[in-house]
Amino acid sequence: MNFYDSQVILEQMKRCGYKETNDERAANLIILNTCSIRAHAEERVFSKLGEIKKLKQEKKELIVGICGCMAQYHRRALFERFKFLDFIVSPSNINRLQNIIEEIKEDKTKVAYLGNFKNSLKNINPDKKGKVSAYLPIMFGCSNFCSYCVVPFLRGKSRSRKLKEIIKEVKELSNQGCREVVLVGQNVTFYGKDLNNEATFSNLLKEINSIENIKRIRFITSHPKDLSEDIINCFSKFPKVCPHIHLPIQSGSDKILSLMNRGYTIKTYQDLVEKLRKEVKNISITTDIMVGFPDETQEDFKDTLNLVEEIKFDQAFTFKYSPRKDTLAFKMKNQVEDKIAKERLQALITFQNKISKKNNEKYLSSIQEVLVEGESSKYEDRLYGRTDNFKTVLFDGSKDIVGRLVKVVIVGYNMRTLKGNILND
Ligand code: SF4
Repeated sequence: MNFYDSQVILEQMKRCGYKETNDERAANLIILNTCSIRAHAEERVFSKLGEIKKLKQEKKELIVGICGCMAQYHRRALFERFKFLDFIVSPSNINRLQNIIEEIKEDKTKVAYLGNFKNSLKNINPDKKGKVSAYLPIMFGCSNFCSYCVVPFLRGKSRSRKLKEIIKEVKELSNQGCREVVLVGQNVTFYGKDLNNEATFSNLLKEINSIENIKRIRFITSHPKDLSEDIINCFSKFPKVCPHIHLPIQSGSDKILSLMNRGYTIKTYQDLVEKLRKEVKNISITTDIMVGFPDETQEDFKDTLNLVEEIKFDQAFTFKYSPRKDTLAFKMKNQVEDKIAKERLQALITFQNKISKKNNEKYLSSIQEVLVEGESSKYEDRLYGRTDNFKTVLFDGSKDIVGRLVKVVIVGYNMRTLKGNILND
């Protein structure tokens, strides 16, 4: 969502007449789009603000603002701590930025736009010309209140966008040359449940599947408690829906899942994985896992490792629990010592990396259809793209083929990427 929000910010700044620069010293306006999910992300912003303060001292007319979850989480206290800030804008208000910047320029006062969650439904459609793959929000906020998470407080409860609006935007994307849409939301599998039977997630996938020139449909993030049979069937019913699902498990212990208020058990999750692997050929499954949640014992952690071994996720995004005020977990007893949580995280990463690498080994010598997404930022003359099941593939080729689907034979692998050679048509 933050990646998409940054595009919305950028689009409006272009409309205000600003141009992007990589040189902070040359900038007349600096906006930090922020995340409050973990304390570590916030610390990085605080340290960046220290650097920006010096720039502002040298250049008084520089406008500096904070957008995103930190604005909503810390509210006006940010003005106290960073007196040079000109504005703070919460995620649901970023679509007003164009006016906010005008207001600051005219009145030369500090402004704060917070709360007002309904406002986020007024979408700014960022320019996607030349983009092969585009993110598209289908809903905002989340009503799940997992006991460790600040999202429902900062982005509000789940609000689905109208199906018609989404379809209109996908058609525009298709006309602009986009070949893949990634439907985003905190819990896309909830989509439509607040729209009085007007739309369901499977309807939405069906409609997008019929749009010409869109070759692939992806979605992120799904929630195990809302992943219905109806949605699972979409993978086989609609050929453009890619065989990949990001399905956060968070812990391998039922006790911890219950304390997290996740709303499913390990058995439910195992059954979903079994169904997905039975119904969807070659599906890849990725996940999020948290360690060091309050009351997590060594036994609970072992249960997580056992589950990871059993399911063999293609990738896992692993995190150490980060206490966040306002959440239920913040007040829980038996907080896990940081040193222990760090050790568990390292053990989990090492364990999962081996599994990811082993999973990738099976692609060796296979021929994959890859959507060419662009040039590799690391290696010159090298392109990157993705298989339908979300494996990143690096290969040599000319940038003329960006946006095309090509056949690639896989000749190498590591835990994150596959390496290949393009097959001539
Ligand atoms: S599902 Fe839970 S973890 Fe995910 S955004 Fe909602 S409250 Fe947060």
